[in-house]
Amino acid sequence: MSILIKNGRIITATDDYVADVFIDGETVSMIGKNLPVKADRTIDASNRLVIPGSIDPHVHMQLPFGGTISSDDFKSGTIAAAFGGTTTIIDFAIQYHGKTFAQTLDDWDAKAEGKCAIDYSYHLAVTEYEDKHKSEFKKVVDRGITTFKIFLAYPGVFMIDDQTMFRVMQSAGEVGGMTLVHAENGIAIQQMIEQLVAQKKLAPKYHAESRPPTMQADGVARALRVGEVAGAPVFIVHVSCEAAMKEIVRSRDEGHASFGETCTQYLFLDQTCYDKPNFEGAKYVFTPPLVPKENIEPLWKGLKLGYLQEVSTDHCPFMFKGQKDLGKDDFRKIPNGGPGVEDRLSMVYHGGVIERGFSLNKWVDICCTASAKMFGMFPKKGTIAVGSDADIVIYDPNKERTVSAKTHHMNCDYSLFEGMKIKGYPETVLSRGKVIIENNQYKGTPGEGKFIKRGECLPL
Ligand SMILES: [Zn+2]
Repeated sequence: MSILIKNGRIITATDDYVADVFIDGETVSMIGKNLPVKADRTIDASNRLVIPGSIDPHVHMQLPFGGTISSDDFKSGTIAAAFGGTTTIIDFAIQYHGKTFAQTLDDWDAKAEGKCAIDYSYHLAVTEYEDKHKSEFKKVVDRGITTFKIFLAYPGVFMIDDQTMFRVMQSAGEVGGMTLVHAENGIAIQQMIEQLVAQKKLAPKYHAESRPPTMQADGVARALRVGEVAGAPVFIVHVSCEAAMKEIVRSRDEGHASFGETCTQYLFLDQTCYDKPNFEGAKYVFTPPLVPKENIEPLWKGLKLGYLQEVSTDHCPFMFKGQKDLGKDDFRKIPNGGPGVEDRLSMVYHGGVIERGFSLNKWVDICCTASAKMFGMFPKKGTIAVGSDADIVIYDPNKERTVSAKTHHMNCDYSLFEGMKIKGYPETVLSRGKVIIENNQYKGTPGEGKFIKRGECLPL
């Protein structure tokens, strides 16, 4: 099967020109003006942007958490991602106590295999490191998983101690890997939670009160300092506040391989969402929580100036009715997470390009290219070039629409951005040369998405 995309405005992280793209099978094989080729199918992309399929490097499909399971599985979640113009996701395979790394990855393979609409990979979240695990790092990398994750939050569940943090960073670095960190001061936060509970402060907003930005900045500073001593690259996930971002800037400025991301929700929403009536604040209970509004512009600026590398979603949806309400009387029991995998590319286009004058190249970089580089998939993913996978989004830059749970495809009964009017829409989406989204319909078959073996990180 061959496809010719004609007359589109091709945008990569560095290029901007009008040309035709010829796709032979799963890859891009020719790019040029008025290509003199015949294809099985021709798509007219006049007045459209032609961009690389976007990458969401932080999602949690079908994740057991807080006595329930995130409501998108690898099928519904990857179909929703595709509708949003995302053609690769990276999930987190989380090691449960007593499991080897290999068993953990096998478990995640079993959940994902045969279900994905788009390509996928995992980071390996290490929650336990004994001497016997050391030799496993190399095997994980050989399996195509080059990123490890640790939690400095959720004591008694996922949290590791500082000795383990050091050992994971060092071992990951030795095999060419990078360590991702959920950075907060989990112990101090636990104390604050206990004090709030003792005062009978149990509403959703106290989730945010128990995790102030300072405690995030503290965790980030500690993780980066330990990474500096371990001599290994560190990537801070879901940075939500300026104080935490500044720690990354400080560390990189001093010459260390320190990086970070933010998520769509932190670029648009602030902590006043927790004041919504009728328990609606629970919709925004994720970790880190939303923070005061004055953090929003610094995060956008951080993306613009390269302080932060990319935007992910931390997609981890739970139904408002039936899941979030587990914590109706106690914020500690509200499952942490929100829906977002479908909204990211469009929201960042609207907030970045339309509202703040970001270049189209910057938009593509922070949604597509930087993640391909950081997480070892470039140039197979993250750009449009001869030989690259034909993961392509044909984007209508002018279509206006309203974001709503009524029209989204995520398996979640609410939207974080309900009612927001935005400009721009991923009209047609190709995954490795096959049109999977067209005319507002999913045209693929779940299971066509493949596990992507990732290589070494290419720090920016
Ligand atoms: Zn996460």
